Amino acid sequence: MTKSNVFSGMRPTGKLHLGHHSVLENWVKMQEEYNCFFGIVDWHALTTGFDNTEALQENIYNMALDWLSVGLDPEKSAIFIQSHVKEHAELHLLLSMITPISWLERVPTYKEQIYQFGLAGKDIAAYGFLGYPVLMASDILVYRATDVPVGEDQLPHLELAREIVRRFNHLYNTDVLVEPQAKLAKIKLLPGIDNRKMSKSYGNYIALNAATEDILDKVKQMVTDPGRIHKDDPGDPTKCTVYTYHTFYNQEEAAEVCANCKAGTTGCVACKKRLAAKIDAFIAPIREKRAYYSEKPEEVKEILAAGAEKARKEASKTLSLVKDAMNI
Ligand code: SF4
Repeated sequence: MTKSNVFSGMRPTGKLHLGHHSVLENWVKMQEEYNCFFGIVDWHALTTGFDNTEALQENIYNMALDWLSVGLDPEKSAIFIQSHVKEHAELHLLLSMITPISWLERVPTYKEQIYQFGLAGKDIAAYGFLGYPVLMASDILVYRATDVPVGEDQLPHLELAREIVRRFNHLYNTDVLVEPQAKLAKIKLLPGIDNRKMSKSYGNYIALNAATEDILDKVKQMVTDPGRIHKDDPGDPTKCTVYTYHTFYNQEEAAEVCANCKAGTTGCVACKKRLAAKIDAFIAPIREKRAYYSEKPEEVKEILAAGAEKARKEASKTLSLVKDAMNI
């Protein structure tokens, strides 16, 4: 049976952290079921980061290393840089012709992000930013992907892509473009070490390739139950970020950690050390694989070139059909 196509991408904005791992884990699984296209979406990074591109190449390279180190497999999937597959841009241009501006202005994140960036003194209200949902739609539609793994927050973007498909197929009396369906990924959100959303801008993250001592250092900083003053005070694990992390990285012992905390029989220092060792054991194989690829930049470049070639081959088929339908 032919596998359906799936496209997923991430903006290259810096090294990945543990908060990204569950998304990547889902991608690794999808490789068995789908014909996957994984794009490092550098054009998307420009929509808000157009004024500071110094680190862009380094970020792209680091993202490729992170992806390979968690198990994205170039033998199974196309792993590539978006700007190396020009068909994404060409389809974006063609779909821009038929997408009403009002559709773009009503995307919930549009005004919100302009406002948020504005608070930080930056004006992102450019043509590229307004049109980025069309670029996002093109990323998916250019592979005629049937399913798209998305979080709930991305549903409005996917709905817009579906509306664009319906409009295109109706205008040109065709069925060339495929309406993609949301494949809602069951992603458990890992909080940052301060219990806020894990984010590079908050500095509350643990990098996907963190060294043993960095992990211990970050775990030491984690927020614990503020009501627990002395080592033998009974604690409340539900108020403790360390415990939340135990449920992710030490599932087999989480119940015991919980009971010990409530009974006041374990100190927070020992509890944190135990967690740090578990996170370290989780990260160790990722770190090892990353070290392997870091020493082979040529191999990484070849993987990205081969991924772009594979992606181009598929994308160009869609482009010919689209152009035929539009009579250009
Ligand atoms: Fe958190 Fe562990 Fe301390 Fe309980 S004992 S408050 S779970 S660090």
